[in-house]
Amino acid sequence: MDHRTITLRGARTHNLAGLDLDIPRGRLVVVVGVSGSGKSSLVFDTIAAEAGNQLRDTFPPFARNRLPSQPRPDVEHIAGLSPVIVVDQRRVGGNARSTVGTFTDAWSYLRLVYSRVGTPHVGESNHFSFNDPAGMCPGCDGLGERIVSAVDRFLDLDLSLRQGAIQLPGFGHGGYWYDRYADIGDFDADTPLREWSEREREALLYGGEAAAELGRGAPGDYEGVVERFERIYLRTADNLSDAKRETIRRFTRTATCPDCGGDRLNEASRAVTVLGHTIGELARLEVAELAPVVRAVDAPAVAPAVEALVARLEAMDAIGLGYLTLARGTTTLSGGESQRLKTVKHLGSSLTEMLYVLDEPTVGLHPTDIASMNGLLARLRDAGNSVLVVEHDPDVMAAADQIVEIGPGAGGDGGRLVFQGGYAELTRADTPTARAIARRAPTRTRPRPATGALTVRNATRNNLRGLTVEIPTGVLTVLTGVAGSGKSSLAAELVERHPVRIVDQRPVSTNRRSTPVTYTGIAGAVRSLFARHTGAPAALFSANSLGGCPDCQGLGVVHADLAFMERRELVCETCRGRRFTSEALAHTVDGLTIADVDDLTVADAVERLPDRRIAAGLRALNEVGLGYLRLGQSLATLSGGECQRVKIARELRHAEEPGAYLLDEPTTGLHLSDVTTLLRVLDALVERGHTVVVIEHHLEVIRHADWLIDLGPGPGRHGGTVLYEGPVADHTDQATPTGRALATSP
Ligand code: ADP
Ligand code: ADP
Ligand code: ZN
Ligand code: ZN
Repeated sequence: MDHRTITLRGARTHNLAGLDLDIPRGRLVVVVGVSGSGKSSLVFDTIAAEAGNQLRDTFPPFARNRLPSQPRPDVEHIAGLSPVIVVDQRRVGGNARSTVGTFTDAWSYLRLVYSRVGTPHVGESNHFSFNDPAGMCPGCDGLGERIVSAVDRFLDLDLSLRQGAIQLPGFGHGGYWYDRYADIGDFDADTPLREWSEREREALLYGGEAAAELGRGAPGDYEGVVERFERIYLRTADNLSDAKRETIRRFTRTATCPDCGGDRLNEASRAVTVLGHTIGELARLEVAELAPVVRAVDAPAVAPAVEALVARLEAMDAIGLGYLTLARGTTTLSGGESQRLKTVKHLGSSLTEMLYVLDEPTVGLHPTDIASMNGLLARLRDAGNSVLVVEHDPDVMAAADQIVEIGPGAGGDGGRLVFQGGYAELTRADTPTARAIARRAPTRTRPRPATGALTVRNATRNNLRGLTVEIPTGVLTVLTGVAGSGKSSLAAELVERHPVRIVDQRPVSTNRRSTPVTYTGIAGAVRSLFARHTGAPAALFSANSLGGCPDCQGLGVVHADLAFMERRELVCETCRGRRFTSEALAHTVDGLTIADVDDLTVADAVERLPDRRIAAGLRALNEVGLGYLRLGQSLATLSGGECQRVKIARELRHAEEPGAYLLDEPTTGLHLSDVTTLLRVLDALVERGHTVVVIEHHLEVIRHADWLIDLGPGPGRHGGTVLYEGPVADHTDQATPTGRALATSP
């Protein structure tokens, strides 16, 4: 057996057409092809799935059952695999205690440095862990923020106490607390609070000195409204009723912990310094700036930790994450940022002979950052690993040792090997990818006229430096800039100030039974089509009704519990997974049974099912380039990019009042040739009078814009300003990353 290749014979997962393939090990291999051609089916659902399963099989049964299992891929022979690490775009750490520092282990090294060489000298490194009682701030349990009273929402100043000025439940007329505050004569119950003195309002809210001064007993006799609220609601964290929770939500907000200022650590640990810096200060520095500070720590006792830490920080900077801080919570990171952070983590590992599988690592990266991503992929390979990447970006293809193209088309028209070789060879070949690379859309020179503008005034979110921008309505606006420059922050300000519909990549449905048929609402139309053509009752063509197989209730599968094995879903033997009774399957339309309809692609269904309602329901899916989906395919299997296109299709179907749409990187998962389709769809939205705002790095989309807003120049602190606003053709400033990318790309 050849140990230097991964050998695949007869792969038939999803649409793979009995694929035979040899992939060199220890190389950087990029898999390309149009959307739906079978790249994921090959890389994730066959190679990575089988590698995972083979590893799982080496464990004894009791351990095996505790490991995640994947369906066995449909492949005749597969060899040459090694343990696989899938670096996907799923967000990291759904937990408030996970930060960029803890996730990358940079924080462990920093803790070690502080515990060994900090002044005053401290004991153990766990004193700098906010997840350890020895280090955590007691005011927030190490979370850096806590729930505080939103005192501004407590009072309605236009009312008197008797009229119900205190908004909290129980303080209104007749309420449980009402008498205590309004009726005992301590306060003037009949004058609107606005006419009270500042000191009197303070006494009402906080009691204490102010109350004593106004003749209401010694400090402590009277309990202020805020004190009482916090005692009842905030300091009794245990078992709150739903009603109490609702109260808390209305009268509180999360704020930076006043004790630690967000540093998450207790007072003693916050006071320790290294070279004059507290650990909290370093946590708030951008990683690119933190590296030189750490490198200056020159003590033999911590030299190895300093070296490892600097290496980690430099890797983050190299991969385009230099603008993050170690304090940043991982739950706030985007999908692309999460994936790059995971890559950094693996770079620090000393494992070799692994198989790394990455899904579109350039997501969220500006064209000018792609070279450093390529450098990182090469480093993973040079450490002795095999690196397999699904990607659409020609710059990544150019950096690969080998390119594998799957296609030529999507779904049933794909699943075959159409090319294997180097980049130069690809550009001379005649494949969908080669053709798309050769063909470039021209830059728009005549922008469509705007109908008005959405103004965002003085935006200061995150790194934005008091920006005021006008986003033209009725046209396509593209927000550009390097990763971390502030595009999402600006978009968030837009959404907060204007009604804008977000078309994102979150799952369309988590229900496995949701399919293009149920989603577009054409199920009824399909049943009546069959009833019309065959004379049988429509209910016979419903798997949930008359037509359903009695042994699996129309599900097509039955569940079985097998000894020593996980609960298994088995194909129903009676209907062989077809879900319908043989009586229902005896009727056909255009040679298709009702079960065959599920196997039709959206594009085929529009052609073959003679019904206006069905065609109308499916047309939009076809228009957004999802014609390759099968009607019965679970929408839970869709990628983020596909979900986003399903949502665009929904907006196209319900042409309502002109509105504004925001899309974040809609080219994710799209082949160059599918980008053309996407642009047609965005144009269709504009033609219907909608405003379309898109965050994008893809040059084809940028060139297509009517209006460009380019942020930068750098990430984080070095960004947050507008570099250019105007028609794309006039953005020629080569001192800016986007201007340079527009000028230098072919
Ligand atoms: P790509 O990664 O190239 O975009 P995929 O491998 O995701 O393509 O899809 C190839 C084909 O397989 C498409 O027709 C797609 O609809 C289908 N497919 C993908 N996942 C599943 C699944 N879980 N079940 C059935 N069909 C699937
Ligand atoms: P872009 O969309 O251009 O990649 P972002 O708007 O996401 O940029 O980020 C701009 C800056 O704001 C970066 O420094 C980023 O780290 C910071 N930032 C973004 N989101 C958050 C957040 N939730 N908390 C703290 N900082 C954030
Ligand atoms: Zn705190
Ligand atoms: Zn059945």
